[in-house]
Amino acid sequence: MHVTIIGTGYVGLVTGACFAELGHEVMCHDISEEKIQNLKKGIVPFYEPGLEELVEKNLSEDRLFFTTDVAEAVKFGEIILSAVGTPQGKDHEADLQYVKSVALNFAENLGENDYKVFVNKSTVPVGTADSCTQLINDYLKKNAVNAKFDVVSNPEFLREGRAIEDTFNPERIVVGVASTKAKSLMEHLYRPFIRTGRPLVFTDVKSAEVIKYAANAFLATKISFINEIANFCEVVGADVGEVSKGIGLDSRIGSKFLHAGIGYGGSCFPKDVKALIKSGEAQGSEFKILRAVDEVNEKQKTLLVNKFEDNFPQGIKGLTVAIWGLSFKPKTDDLRCAPSLEIINNLLEKGVKIKAFDPIAMPNFKKQFSNILENENFILVDTAFEALNEADAIMILTEWNEFRGVDLKEIAAKMKGKLILDGRNIYESKDVLEAGLIYESIGKSKLKR
Ligand code: NAD
Repeated sequence: MHVTIIGTGYVGLVTGACFAELGHEVMCHDISEEKIQNLKKGIVPFYEPGLEELVEKNLSEDRLFFTTDVAEAVKFGEIILSAVGTPQGKDHEADLQYVKSVALNFAENLGENDYKVFVNKSTVPVGTADSCTQLINDYLKKNAVNAKFDVVSNPEFLREGRAIEDTFNPERIVVGVASTKAKSLMEHLYRPFIRTGRPLVFTDVKSAEVIKYAANAFLATKISFINEIANFCEVVGADVGEVSKGIGLDSRIGSKFLHAGIGYGGSCFPKDVKALIKSGEAQGSEFKILRAVDEVNEKQKTLLVNKFEDNFPQGIKGLTVAIWGLSFKPKTDDLRCAPSLEIINNLLEKGVKIKAFDPIAMPNFKKQFSNILENENFILVDTAFEALNEADAIMILTEWNEFRGVDLKEIAAKMKGKLILDGRNIYESKDVLEAGLIYESIGKSKLKR
């Protein structure tokens, strides 16, 4: 099948490369000239395990093409998937300007007697497919183009860091579709997945749009829930790790997304929870639970700095902190809404010196946060151990595997102070204490040697 992807970011590029690997011919379009020129040479603009190899392979086997020419892209595909960003707008609602501009590009490039399917892969508020349909229809009518189309909602559920694995082995593929013609094209697109037993869930367009927000909002709710339980555990002297294990073994609850920490971040949960709250408001159907989920998450990002301050009653100004981990989660260089950013800004405002290290996200950090890099109290260093020089405390902000296996005695010997502030609960308290360190984590009462 000829498939076009418009918006070659995390979702668009992974989807395009995976569809190509499954035998479709895929043209990926983006407005960024630099991104497309690099991709034509096999250079992937962000870190995602296995993606560069997949892109190179399918480029060389002539199943994957890149272009900045939107007319060429729309003409190429029988199905046009839009995977552009839907960032947070000024009042926390989803900003749909990119989606609308792609819908218009689609309309502008439909030829006389064409039939094509416009598939929305981005996370968009309910009603967006209807407004895209309206926008495309208006254009065709105004310009007297006799073309037919359908708009389909096909939300994406991949997780950064395991995006390829998720795309090849989805737990479900949700397709919101109103016409049988579009349905059969979508079945054709996903045939390789159907053959391997992956459930293709056909539903109406609006339900598909809600499914994506409801899924993200539910997962964010689980995280904020366990974080509130963690805060309670700290007060009463219980251990949230034990509680998570104890409740997660109940199959009605499940053990995933029950890790207490410094709050969720990334390009999806924060903006999607806020956008759903906003949609509810607009429709007169308030999301009380989600307001609390968001509030708990905001508070969670302040915990580590509060704990740091509690350990230094004389004040933290002028102290040095080693920060381990910048990305919002391991196996990605994505820094969008990473809790590390708020923590770093908070520390810098309080006059703390920071030496930060991340195994993958530092190049991305350098590109995006020149304002932080200009602060004389902030430096990025080349290794996790280098960050420990003169450090009064370490803050673990991302649970990269390489931080898990470190020799804690070596850490104790290298740092100036003794305090580990573990925002991801990656160590066993007893191991930290045996190394002669002070351990503050999330959801366990304070343990000192
Ligand atoms: P992204 O910012 O990485 O990629 C978006 C791309 O679209 C960029 O490369 C940008 O240059 C391009 N673009 C913008 N306007 C364009 C236009 N008019 N024409 C062509 N290209 C254009 O975003 P992403 O993380 O891939 O997310 C895309 C959508 O998928 C969002 O709605 C997001 O919420 C959703 N989503 C993301 C993930 C994820 O893990 N990143 C997972 C599931 C769903």
